[in-house]
Amino acid sequence: MRVEHDRTSFPSVSRTLGPSIPWTLHLIAKLINWLFGSKARRREQLLSEPFPDAWLQIVRRTVHFYERLSENEKRRLRECIQIFVAEKRFVGCAGLMVTDDIKVTIAAGACVLLLGLPRLDIFPKLREVIVYPDSLADSVEAIGPDGRPYQISQVRAGEAWLRGPVVLAWSSVRRSVASPVDGYNVVYHEFAHVIDMQNSSADGMPPPASKAQYDRWARVFFKEFDRFVHASHRGMLTLIDPYGATNPAEFFAVVTEHFFEQPRQLEINHPELFELLADYYQVNPIRWRKG
Ligand SMILES: [Zn+2]
Repeated sequence: MRVEHDRTSFPSVSRTLGPSIPWTLHLIAKLINWLFGSKARRREQLLSEPFPDAWLQIVRRTVHFYERLSENEKRRLRECIQIFVAEKRFVGCAGLMVTDDIKVTIAAGACVLLLGLPRLDIFPKLREVIVYPDSLADSVEAIGPDGRPYQISQVRAGEAWLRGPVVLAWSSVRRSVASPVDGYNVVYHEFAHVIDMQNSSADGMPPPASKAQYDRWARVFFKEFDRFVHASHRGMLTLIDPYGATNPAEFFAVVTEHFFEQPRQLEINHPELFELLADYYQVNPIRWRKG
């Protein structure tokens, strides 16, 4: 994928440009205030509405540890879901009708990742979620060991595009919800990619909170990735899904699934990685487990 940076750059202002500058700055300030102010007002208005009871039932079904969250976390999760559903466009494909069940289930899974990350806002670059009824199958060409091309059939449960939509198979989302502790959750996986892409491309380096966190990530995460790739090549079975050995971006998405679904096992088997993720996501999912 092509890396695209999305930073707004303002032209530098020179005093020699004359009296029109304050007027221009004033206009820019008004525009920024209008853009961000209206967003804040829209959200305020939205959150003044009560969270629908029917949605709460869906959240309890989707986030099986909902009752173990603190009151503050519950409120943050509900607010994130309300904003997500209101601000993202859901598109049903192949005859799928997008219902509240679909919207709230996907929003709830995505917002779990943001429980401790208000600094990242709510997937600000994501506009659209495309939902298919079933897994997406296609075939790709690969070169075999004999140098000849082969068609390989691929089944995809979801995709996240750089500056594009998230695509999900509803059957895979439902399977993820039905098995909440097996380390597989397509919503966590794809939205971990969206977080990863928030600062650049999907490279296994999500936006850090500080220089210290960046340094720690660079040291620990990539060491864990190299170890995991090495173990996978030697055919060693580990807790982490072998798909994580594809590249650092997939490793981040896969370990995010394990972190939220199998936190205890991840802490026992990969303590440094667990600590790194707990520090990044600013939550400890072990606290949300029974027993
Ligand atoms: Zn992936």
